[in-house]
Amino acid sequence: MSKNKQDKQNNKKIWLSLIGLVILVVLLVGLTIVMFNNKEDEDEKTLAYTDLIKELSYGNIEKIEMTVGSTTVKVKQKNVEEEKTSIVPNTESFIGLVQDKVAEGNEIELIQKPRSILAQIPSFIFSFLPTIIMLALFIMIFKMQGLGEKGKVYDDTERKTKVKFDDVAGLDEEKEEMVEIVDFLKNPEKFTKMGAKIPKGVLLYGKPGTGKTLIAKAIAGEADVPFISMSGSEFIEMFAGLGASRVRKLFDKARKLAPCIVFIDEIDAIGSRRTSNSGAETENNQTLNQLLVEMDGFSSEETIIVLAATNRPEMLDKALLRPGRFDRQITIPTPDLKGRLEILKIHSKEKKLDDSVNLESIAEDTAGFTGAELANILNEAAIIATKQKHEDIQNDDIEEAVKKVTVGLEKRARVISDKDKRLTAYHEAGHAVVSRYLPTQTNVKEVSIIPRGVAGGYTMYKSDEDKYYVSKTEMQEKLIALLGGRAAEKLVLDDISTGASNDIEVATQIARDMVTKYGMSDTLGPIDFQGKEPYEMQLFGENIGDKIGQEVKTLIDTAYNDAQTLLKQHRDKLDAIAETLLQKEKINEEDFKRFFED
Ligand code: ADP
Ligand code: MG
Ligand code: ZN
Repeated sequence: MSKNKQDKQNNKKIWLSLIGLVILVVLLVGLTIVMFNNKEDEDEKTLAYTDLIKELSYGNIEKIEMTVGSTTVKVKQKNVEEEKTSIVPNTESFIGLVQDKVAEGNEIELIQKPRSILAQIPSFIFSFLPTIIMLALFIMIFKMQGLGEKGKVYDDTERKTKVKFDDVAGLDEEKEEMVEIVDFLKNPEKFTKMGAKIPKGVLLYGKPGTGKTLIAKAIAGEADVPFISMSGSEFIEMFAGLGASRVRKLFDKARKLAPCIVFIDEIDAIGSRRTSNSGAETENNQTLNQLLVEMDGFSSEETIIVLAATNRPEMLDKALLRPGRFDRQITIPTPDLKGRLEILKIHSKEKKLDDSVNLESIAEDTAGFTGAELANILNEAAIIATKQKHEDIQNDDIEEAVKKVTVGLEKRARVISDKDKRLTAYHEAGHAVVSRYLPTQTNVKEVSIIPRGVAGGYTMYKSDEDKYYVSKTEMQEKLIALLGGRAAEKLVLDDISTGASNDIEVATQIARDMVTKYGMSDTLGPIDFQGKEPYEMQLFGENIGDKIGQEVKTLIDTAYNDAQTLLKQHRDKLDAIAETLLQKEKINEEDFKRFFED
């Protein structure tokens, strides 16, 4: 269990026990009240007030016992053994009544008793209950804050991470910059003597799972300094006003432990561009302002280096990037082929791999995967191998794990009607056949109508070799391949289904990016239209939104028509592959190629 998790669980425990305490108090109070009420209810020997008055006027009452502050009175009637209780609406006027009777010559003994301690409890609790609850809440809040602070800092034995650069695969160039940071932390004098200012903040940009946290830990580990971490989303979950105070405490701690690394994960959660003044925003602003104050506050002699991670750099407030704050930025890319192979090697070190395993080919098949996903694949493979009772992890287990991570778990047990099967077969055959005739598209690796995850079937392509650029033709053909499924449904079954929803989503996104991000529209030209404010869009002329929409639609329409044309031309292949799918459920790479050998 990671330290972080433990802290969260400890926090949870404290919360739970405090909530438990409050519930207990409330229950006790409730119980007391019920008990007191019950006592009165139980007592069947009550006398209605009207009867009491009657009895009084008849001169049948010989003794009345009252308690100060209570409307319940005990009365003793003449000729009746037992005392009875009665509720009087107004004690003062009742006493007046009794006094009149006494003055008339009735012999009534009127006793006024002081409040019994026991009887006072309910009203006491009632008057103090709100205060008690408030107090409990305050204690809870302060406890939480205090604990959060203590918990996030690794204690003396654990605060140093054992992660080293060797645990971080790939990222060779990025590592060079990190070595420099380690040097700053280890020998600050070397740099300050030269008059160099030590950087205060380093921002790590990269998709989730690319290893940003791992790198931050490795820097602390290599420099052998404490690692204090906190996540941006934790700040904003806090009660109003606490975000800023947590930042202050975080840095108080860091100053005590310096030289050290402060790691702020998901910094975009607090460091988003300051735009409006709505409630949550203002709260974020206070937190962000406090962070800026702290970063401006410590001198370079203190050697605190703040590392922050985000996957949304465009969201960050520009103030964070000014000199003396996060003036260094490192982009952490998804690993390339070599990086993936290294990551697979690192994470398979402690796993029992069969000789059949070919990590190179797995690395080739996983373009675009992050380090976290690769680690996950190897772990899934180990689980699959265990379930299959294999002696060690085989290549098939890893391939199955890749599919599980990308398309989801195979669901052979799901019952599917023949009609749906036919639809899926033609849909997937549509994708496969269309892409076979598109020069830029990669080869089909597997077509299947066995449901996996939420998909009814899937077509897997050979992974793209790592490329930096994608051409317009390639994107257009990708659109055709994506819409091949829907086109086949329309062509063969003359009806369309919801099965294409994901294809349509992806296709629309690609077409929109082509027009608004990559400037691939002939009529609109190479202009970036993304993330622009309305007034900025105005600069491009009236109805620019309509024009963009029209361009996107044209791209999609053209691709859909092209897909249908291709399928009409190769209807024989489409039918043959769909039929084979219905019989065998799955077609692999070689079998698929065979359909096109004539
Ligand atoms: P991020 O913080 O960018 O979301 P993490 O650092 O939390 O990513 O990475 C999650 C896990 O993925 C790591 O603990 C590690 O097991 C694995 N991982 C990611 N990148 C790498 C890498 N370059 N080398 C080795 N393992 C990696
Ligand atoms: Mg992380
Ligand atoms: Zn599809």
